[in-house]
Amino acid sequence: MRSLFWKTLLPGGGNLTSRHPLRLNVGFLLHESVGFSRNFVFDHTAVLVGGDLQVGDLRGTVRFTRTTQGLYAHGRLHARAHQTCVRCLAEYEQDLSVELDDLFTYPPAPGADPLLQIPESGILDLNPLLREHLLLAVPLQPLCRPDCAGLCPVCGANQNQTRCHHRETAIDPRLAVLKSLLSEE
Ligand SMILES: [Zn+2]
Ligand SMILES: [Zn+2]
Repeated sequence: MRSLFWKTLLPGGGNLTSRHPLRLNVGFLLHESVGFSRNFVFDHTAVLVGGDLQVGDLRGTVRFTRTTQGLYAHGRLHARAHQTCVRCLAEYEQDLSVELDDLFTYPPAPGADPLLQIPESGILDLNPLLREHLLLAVPLQPLCRPDCAGLCPVCGANQNQTRCHHRETAIDPRLAVLKSLLSEE
């Protein structure tokens, strides 16, 4: 982590420290009257979210508004995550987009969702909630591009890069098994 460049306090934000960009100091908002809002700007080259989810280019703005129950957070964050394409097995950067539309309660109430509570300290840790949102944004079948041509079933060549001669004659591998069974008779 030492080699990464962290942006320090950003305009309009209360991002606590550059080392913990997702820990927000929202204490000052809790002293404001209902309806008061403030934007928190995120612009980080690389962030480890929730201790195990590495994302790059985390950017966006989240608006926190004081309500009678706590703080309402609304905004959109974009990030990139390293993925492996299910078709061609190439490594690529997947764009992720998450919408925050959450009410964080204050004071913290026993029994309420711990991810959606602001502790007495006024330091809101967005790590666990953002981690959940980001994981849900990762496609179940990651593709390097929507029209990824995948690997040739015969020679294994990446058909996005090379055009092997099997391409035109390639048949479904399940049919190939059937064909070989039939030819044995
Ligand atoms: Zn692919
Ligand atoms: Zn081939």
